[in-house]
Amino acid sequence: MKIENFKEKLVSLCDKEYHAQPRELTANQLHCAVSKLVMEELSPVWDKSRTAHDKARKASYLSMEFLVGRAIYNNLLCLGILDSTAEELKALGVDISEFEEVEDAALGNGGLGRLAACFLDSAAALDLPLDGYGIRYKYGLFKQGIKDGFQTETADDWQRYGDPWSVRREQETVVIHFADGDVNAVPYDYPVIGYGTENVGTLRLWQAETDDEFDFDLFNRSKFTEAGEKKRAAEDISRVLYPNDETEAGKILRLKQEYFFSAAAVADLIRKHKAIFGTMENFADYNCIQMNDTHPVIALPEFIRVVMRDEGWKFDKAFEAAKKVFNYTNHTIMQEALEKWDSRLIERIVPEVYSVMIMLNEAFESEMHRRNVPQDKRAVMRLIKNGTVHMANIAVFGSSYVNGVAAIHTELLKTTVLKDWYELYPERFQNKTNGITQRRWLALCNRELSALITELLGDDSWVTDLDKLSGLKKYADDESVLRRFIDIKHAKKQQLADFIKKSEGIEIDPKSVYDIQIKRLHEYKRQLLNAFSILYLYYEIKDGNLRDFTPTTFIFGAKSAPGYYRAKGIIKFINEVAKLVNSDPDTKDLLRVVFVSNYRVSYAEKLVAAADISEQISTAGTEASGTGNMKFMLNGAVTLGTLDGANVEIAEEAGAENEYIFGATVEELEKIMPDYVPRDITESDPKIKRVVSALIDGTVSDGGSGVFRELYFALMEGASWHVPDHYYLLGDLDSYVKAKLAVNRDYSNELAFAKKCWLNICSAGKFSSDRTIAEYAKDIWHIGKV
Ligand SMILES: *Cc1c(COP(=O)(O)O)cnc(C)c1O
Repeated sequence: MKIENFKEKLVSLCDKEYHAQPRELTANQLHCAVSKLVMEELSPVWDKSRTAHDKARKASYLSMEFLVGRAIYNNLLCLGILDSTAEELKALGVDISEFEEVEDAALGNGGLGRLAACFLDSAAALDLPLDGYGIRYKYGLFKQGIKDGFQTETADDWQRYGDPWSVRREQETVVIHFADGDVNAVPYDYPVIGYGTENVGTLRLWQAETDDEFDFDLFNRSKFTEAGEKKRAAEDISRVLYPNDETEAGKILRLKQEYFFSAAAVADLIRKHKAIFGTMENFADYNCIQMNDTHPVIALPEFIRVVMRDEGWKFDKAFEAAKKVFNYTNHTIMQEALEKWDSRLIERIVPEVYSVMIMLNEAFESEMHRRNVPQDKRAVMRLIKNGTVHMANIAVFGSSYVNGVAAIHTELLKTTVLKDWYELYPERFQNKTNGITQRRWLALCNRELSALITELLGDDSWVTDLDKLSGLKKYADDESVLRRFIDIKHAKKQQLADFIKKSEGIEIDPKSVYDIQIKRLHEYKRQLLNAFSILYLYYEIKDGNLRDFTPTTFIFGAKSAPGYYRAKGIIKFINEVAKLVNSDPDTKDLLRVVFVSNYRVSYAEKLVAAADISEQISTAGTEASGTGNMKFMLNGAVTLGTLDGANVEIAEEAGAENEYIFGATVEELEKIMPDYVPRDITESDPKIKRVVSALIDGTVSDGGSGVFRELYFALMEGASWHVPDHYYLLGDLDSYVKAKLAVNRDYSNELAFAKKCWLNICSAGKFSSDRTIAEYAKDIWHIGKV
């Protein structure tokens, strides 16, 4: 897209809205002005795409979370006007980097939400008719601060300065019925700009509202309060994103959120379809719905409910249609994370949907009877059992296809959590290894490396065809190219150092190795193992056992769910380890530990481009895929990781000799865990004992909170229905430290190490979400170009 007379238009817009020149505006005002101008220019193109999507066979991506991050730079990039806009702004006396102040839209917790955002970007670029449906949370994921080493949380009021990339389409409001009253779902549409195409997808986020005009009886306070309370309760539904913390609190509200956006999406799709085709008979020919995890699974019985009521369809016919329309992506094999709802709760909140769930369960029973499935298997697969609704079982029973998100994860689904389902319906199961969009995660976040790649390949077609990167392999032994890569990496490390100085007030040395672990804080992701390994190295250096250690900066970034006590304790521990090693004269020039605050998409963009080492150290079998691992690889870092999730495929693509793989495998853990006694390890290895004991022997202090003791006991004795050291930290520590030392040793051979990094870039093609989306389009959605 080209915007004619950009400067004149912007000047007049700024004058009209703010009575000021562009350079006199705050960053946020200017952001609103530029975004508004672009949105106006985009409007006709977007309208055309929306109409085209409505008429085509299309897919809808239903997700509780869309972690889109900062929109402005990416939208300009995808429109092909990032550089020209920078120049136009410069001519007006404004530096485009001012938009660094614009806050992220953090409408997601982590990987699952970011995946949804990458998918929309890829579908738009591939010219595919895919649109997203979710919730317009007033407050996104909390903002994290660090005080005395502990995490603090504040509300993320991300719309405070406006939300210029959205369009409110009030006329398309849907009324959602709950047993305790109606709520309006008002759509806000966000354009998803397809790089290099005219295709603009739509992310439709629903906001909960009530009809404004309730009776204000100013003299009757109780009436006023009642109306106000009702309004507030309705608006609560889209007030805040849940920070997935498995607690009981807010269960009802969470269920309401799930039904709210799922039912709104179903109503929206049906209304649009009927407006064009006048019938529901061919709905499944034109629509498919992808359920991102179980959160939107309630859409399935909702669809059946609506067509039975409005079209007079019998259950069987409605169910057959639903099975054609719906598909389900599983994101975890951890039992505790599979959604289950108390039947009475669902019945109380949405009784008619619950009736359909019972019909589904009856259909399940007769199907099992027909197929002679033994009772013990039925007991596992039943949709409703012991007063509990199992959302994953509804999803598998009611879908065309079920997919896992990496090869190893899909295999584990088939052999563990969904084993009985797989035996029953093997044709439903597919793998779709996750991916990331190279627009944001290379073209935007690493313009220096992008320029080098474009120069070497002769054009920038890799931006829409990432397999082209394999054409860089021939430079793997070209010293001058590797030197240029090293210089770029150094520049990105310097930029990150500057940003960390500015935002955290901490100095780091860009000449040191950057070893980075960034992801949500969770015990299975094992940030505590990383911290232990740093303490281990610290003692080795102090004891004089480690010479020739290349100075390393260990960077952590992670938010913990506010109610996740042990995860918060791990943040405190990392910060205490940082205090210890950063201030010790014996080690402070060799080890530096930094916990960066408020990790988010825009921070990730800076971190992945600057990393030498990507830490992907989850217990084998626990991380379904991971996508952070792919971002690092694409920017030329080596993976220090376990054979888990997509790490397996990363090592396959780049060659295991270019990664640092350690730790017990899934198969090994199966044999080890039944008899695993962590105390045997601490008793036989004094170095490990010393490191783990730091939690309780006064080496570091948890400020009297007792949380380090709790961590220690979870490792040594077991806690909350888990066996001791459930995630096998102590078992993997030795091989992890060895691998860490191996990377450190290899790093000192600059060119050999750069070659490994380079080969990672060359091999990253598979991990484009363009590849993932092309597979969904072909194997699951059966959709083609718009
Ligand atoms: C990519 C990304 C994630 C997912 O990271 P994993 O390492 O795969 O868990 C989480 N949060 C943000 C902000 C991201 O950009």
